[in-house]
Amino acid sequence: MNDEINNKPIRLRFAPSPTGGLHLGGLRTLLYNFLFVQQQGGKLILRIEDTDQKRFVAGAEQYIFECCQWLGINIDESVQHGGEYGPYRQSERKALYQQYVQQLIDGGLAYYAFDTPEELDAMRESFKSVLPHDQIQYDQKTRMKMTNSLTLSAEETKKKLDNKTPFVIRIKMPEQEQIVLPDAIRGAVHFDSQLLDDKVLMKADGLPTYHFAVVVDDYLMKISHVLRGEEWLPSAGIHALLWRYLGWEKDMPIWIHLPLILKPDGNGKLSKRDSERLGIPIYALQWKDATSGDLIEGFKEKGFVPQALSNFLALSAWNDGSTQEVFSIDELIQKFSLERLHHHSAKFDYEKAKWYNETYLQQMPTTALTDCVKNCLVTKQIQHHYTDTQLEELVELTKARCQLINDFYDQNAYLFHKPTSIDTAALTGKWNADKKKLFEQLIVVFEQANNFSHDVLHHTLQEFCATQNIKLGEIQLPLRVMLVGGKFGIGVTHILALIGKKESIERITNGLNALSTIA
Ligand code: GLU
Repeated sequence: MNDEINNKPIRLRFAPSPTGGLHLGGLRTLLYNFLFVQQQGGKLILRIEDTDQKRFVAGAEQYIFECCQWLGINIDESVQHGGEYGPYRQSERKALYQQYVQQLIDGGLAYYAFDTPEELDAMRESFKSVLPHDQIQYDQKTRMKMTNSLTLSAEETKKKLDNKTPFVIRIKMPEQEQIVLPDAIRGAVHFDSQLLDDKVLMKADGLPTYHFAVVVDDYLMKISHVLRGEEWLPSAGIHALLWRYLGWEKDMPIWIHLPLILKPDGNGKLSKRDSERLGIPIYALQWKDATSGDLIEGFKEKGFVPQALSNFLALSAWNDGSTQEVFSIDELIQKFSLERLHHHSAKFDYEKAKWYNETYLQQMPTTALTDCVKNCLVTKQIQHHYTDTQLEELVELTKARCQLINDFYDQNAYLFHKPTSIDTAALTGKWNADKKKLFEQLIVVFEQANNFSHDVLHHTLQEFCATQNIKLGEIQLPLRVMLVGGKFGIGVTHILALIGKKESIERITNGLNALSTIA
């Protein structure tokens, strides 16, 4: 195995912020990181980027680990797994950042800024007449009008620091420079330093911003490749500059910015709101929204198997150059390549995700699929009397029509509950007093039956029809309507056998009552 590229051990990191549920884009980033690490025999680090205390959501960190577990993603180093490059939570690495930001200040590459929120507002106001709204920022055009260590004397700055005047530390953007970030799938990405603002590196609370922490940590954790979402590309210029400012340019990781996953209509980035609006999952696992308290179903709760979700996600921005669409995880690990990653955003195709799931369900051994169905019934708190063999029979009989594990229940709910209504209209013109008598006699036959298995029931019904001198077809439709409530469901003898003698008789009796209104 090749665990080094350019003599650098392969170390990748997935660096989520614990600010909410891990959505599809994040999951796909995690998956690609995992595939590449597995292929190269490297290490996958899970780093918690929790420097924004205002956006911190309790439970989000644990949730990320649960998603990894469900998807079968192996993490090598993290707060839970340990490792020699910890701590793996940024809020616990405060002292490290301090040391490096000091290095930048000493080198004149960063500076203290003491401006109050009111002063910042006043600055925006005063530049309104000379600059377009979106160009008013703390940068080389404005910085010399502000209260910072560039405009104050060394003594004044020291005094403010000694007096504990709140401050932030900002990067000092070079005046006129093209910053170039080499992206492995996009080529060289250029940033004009004149257009970039003097981003805050250290906040007033003493914690670093994401921009600073990400660079320090990727360096200290010896990250070889950064595979992250395209939403971070606009910030990548600042990151590249920081790598240089800190003197680490030759250790810079290989950058890969993955394309966005768009809304199903292609109109913007897929968001949490789309999940609610369109009833489509965007989280791997159920997520409880911190503000509304709403439970948002994930792919798991919708009835997906993790292998199908992984396959779908893997193929949403990568292919192996052939038309093959279904890959086992081992095949993905073997065939995945950075070169074949797409860089254009693609719409989220939920139908395709379901197609993958259906494909996996059809291929699964019956016992494994039955286990999934059993778990689903437990989650839905469905009481039933079925043995494993009966559930396996149900799975075999119905899997061709099921795309999601939940479909086994949703499409066959009549096997678990009596029908709540009977579609009497389905029998209009086909029901009369004679039919009623026929079914009363059938009840007697069923009561006497001592074998209610599918095969035997088949003969029982045939014999019954022969004795009554009618065709089997004559009783099949009314029997189905009485058993399930309408013109749907698996074969009637299978239904009878599965729900059992007592339940069958009860449903026919209830059906006869309901049908008395039309005859
Ligand atoms: N903490 C960032 C996030 O929440 C990760 C950005 C990166 O990978 O550099 O997505």
